Amino acid sequence: MCGIVGIYGQENAAGWATEALFSQQHRGQDSCGVATADGKDLFCHRGMGLVRECLTEEALRGLPGSHAIGHVRYPTQGEATVKNAQPHLFVRNGEVLFSLASNGDITNLPQLGAEIESRGYPLEGTNDAEVIAKAIGIWAYDDGLGIEGAIRKWMVTGMGAYCTVLLTPSHLYAFRDPHGLRPMSRGEKGGAAVIASETVALDILRAKFVEHVAPGAILKWGPGGLSQPEGVPPRDHHHCIFELIYFARPDSRVFNERVYEVRRAIGTALAKEDDTPGDVVVPIPDSSNYIGLAYATARDLPIAFGLVRNHYIGRTFIAPEQRMRDDAVRLKFNPLPGFFEGKRVFLVDDSIVRGTTIRKLVHMVRDQGAKEVHLRIGSPPIRHSCYYGVDTPDQDKLIAGGRTPQEVAALLGADTLRYLSLESLRTTVFTPDHYCYACFTGEYPAGCKA
Ligand code: SF4
Repeated sequence: MCGIVGIYGQENAAGWATEALFSQQHRGQDSCGVATADGKDLFCHRGMGLVRECLTEEALRGLPGSHAIGHVRYPTQGEATVKNAQPHLFVRNGEVLFSLASNGDITNLPQLGAEIESRGYPLEGTNDAEVIAKAIGIWAYDDGLGIEGAIRKWMVTGMGAYCTVLLTPSHLYAFRDPHGLRPMSRGEKGGAAVIASETVALDILRAKFVEHVAPGAILKWGPGGLSQPEGVPPRDHHHCIFELIYFARPDSRVFNERVYEVRRAIGTALAKEDDTPGDVVVPIPDSSNYIGLAYATARDLPIAFGLVRNHYIGRTFIAPEQRMRDDAVRLKFNPLPGFFEGKRVFLVDDSIVRGTTIRKLVHMVRDQGAKEVHLRIGSPPIRHSCYYGVDTPDQDKLIAGGRTPQEVAALLGADTLRYLSLESLRTTVFTPDHYCYACFTGEYPAGCKA
């Protein structure tokens, strides 16, 4: 999971892109970057760290022009290094021809990477966006397909998830994989165009939302305005349901859904399946807050924010190494003193992946004197890895893999554990057949896994 932005036709496009990235920082905290174009040349700055650390005033002074793309990175393919930071530049015979940034994971990366290197373009990093950039560059310029033809060829050759922005000195392109796995929105402000992973970026820029970019579509902005070159036919939609459960900001709209409303529907559905007695509902902040609130309301139980989160640490799930995740859990949450004593507590979380965080929290709450700890999870058990841009580990590291909920509860130290059923999850969205549930079911989108 990463976040992207594209700006076309706006003075100080770098500043706009930076603000849009800042509002999407939750989608990636490892590295970031912005590339700009002034009609003749391309400029780029990328580096490790958060937006506010990397895209400083000084950095932005070196990014002139009224067109920009940007990226925040959450490493799933390729290590956390500056070589894997985006945007990438495509350079041919010493000339920078375009820059590119992408959100998603490509599943046939090894084959494509080998083909690119055999064409005389060594890969500098280990990141899928570099492969997309080089493949499109080779096909566009060495093979003479032009940018649009090369993007189309990419869309029938690359497998997996991608929401991609590509900036030449004078044009901006945006294209989305034909399954629509990751979100991409388009907005406008005055004469300027804005593309972003989430609508929150449009809101922050005061841009008007226009549409969710259609799966398989290519959009192009140039001196003549917006046009829509022929893309590829959309395939069965497989939007990532986890964007709604966990990743996206609650104030965003993704896949034609309001994120906070889906989370509230999840909490209500979870409560319908439950009559366990208890005293108080405590959501794990922040992504479970709306689920917990709706669960508590539907069960007529009090809700309390009994765990206080330190907001200056990134999301634990997003930390790329196990060691960092362990440290982050201890640093991230602290219980209200005395609050849990003698209480039967419903701890509500959106999902369980490895179980590292929730196990520590269950023990923390027990150590604080809770009489019972009941886990309520706003998604079904995750039993399969994701190949489309989410850092789920190998199947054997997923705590629900091969285990019953009772066995998982015992491992986590909880009295009971209830997951939301898949049937109930499907009732929380308008178009349930348009979603990917592969990490629950193991049924991956057809033609989307190498
Ligand atoms: S496998 Fe799971 S996390 Fe990955 S895209 Fe599908 S629903 Fe999203």
